[in-house]
Amino acid sequence: MNTTDMETSNRGAGSGYEKCTGCAVCTLTCPVWHQTRDIILTAGGRSRVLQSGGTPEEMRESITACVLCGACAAVCPAGVDTVALTTELRAALAARAPRGSFSGGGKPSAKLFFPGAALRGNGELLRRAASLLETDGFTLFDDAGLSELAGEMETGGRPEPEELKNFIHSMSGVTEIAAADGFLHRYLRQWLPAVRVSGLGEALLRKREIKNALKAGDLYIIETRGYHAAHTRLVTFYDRMRLETGCGLNTSLQRAAIPTGAASRQTVGRLDTAEQARWILHKRRPARIVAESVEDLEVFKRTPESPEVIHIAELARIPQSELAGTRDER
Ligand code: SF4
Ligand code: SF4
Repeated sequence: MNTTDMETSNRGAGSGYEKCTGCAVCTLTCPVWHQTRDIILTAGGRSRVLQSGGTPEEMRESITACVLCGACAAVCPAGVDTVALTTELRAALAARAPRGSFSGGGKPSAKLFFPGAALRGNGELLRRAASLLETDGFTLFDDAGLSELAGEMETGGRPEPEELKNFIHSMSGVTEIAAADGFLHRYLRQWLPAVRVSGLGEALLRKREIKNALKAGDLYIIETRGYHAAHTRLVTFYDRMRLETGCGLNTSLQRAAIPTGAASRQTVGRLDTAEQARWILHKRRPARIVAESVEDLEVFKRTPESPEVIHIAELARIPQSELAGTRDER
């Protein structure tokens, strides 16, 4: 192995891949394994290849197949940070220049709502979510630059250190962020350790009118990336919600959330999102599907086996005149 190979094969070291025992527990929750039955395409496969001295280039197909749902990290008994493993390996493959400005803007507020790219692309749902969170003190934040950064980080990019410092500085005084893009949660917690980071679903489910609108026949689709990034805490949160409302959840026997994979920005992915939706619906007959993420909403709407499909922000009745972005025109 030459020096360059040694350097690249050391990528992933921050993930703890050395601890992988090859137990294959991660295959139980992995959608890529479910669809391909190829162990090399799983987190355990990548860890074992690295342990054997393999290089990122040699496992390019495996690195690009992962949808970064994080379900494997939630169940790994050795504590391998499998999402960090894949993103570090993608960074080794991509070797991109760090990204510049992404600070964004908005009114100064202690509580910010980061809608993410998918929700920003759906004006009606964005106004609904922003209106609901506004009554809890959240201010809608222009996170377009951050969304672009998230897309680049998912495919191997990283922030420029000085710009990251500026972003952290711009967040001084912020105490809570509700972020719809679950991929960002782990990074926001690393960058802003004093800030409480919630998913959009978690923030909206704190509202009585939202929780009361969930019914026993509903199948509630948790946004998987944010859920697995704080799995221990959120298992308790969603279990309580399920007991209180009687709704079903897209969780497996290991209480990992089964992903559709629709949020993945990786274009070389191997996952068929429609097949994932059918897997989630297998032997279930929900009266209605309630999705936390716009990406999951769209996949289920396209799946013929689905009943009525709505977004969580549509659970509350909001008069048109009260929607964010329309009140100034009255
Ligand atoms: S569950 Fe963890 S220890 Fe087991 S094979 Fe997967 S990554 Fe390795
Ligand atoms: S993050 Fe998801 S898709 Fe990637 S290896 Fe883990 S379970 Fe599989």
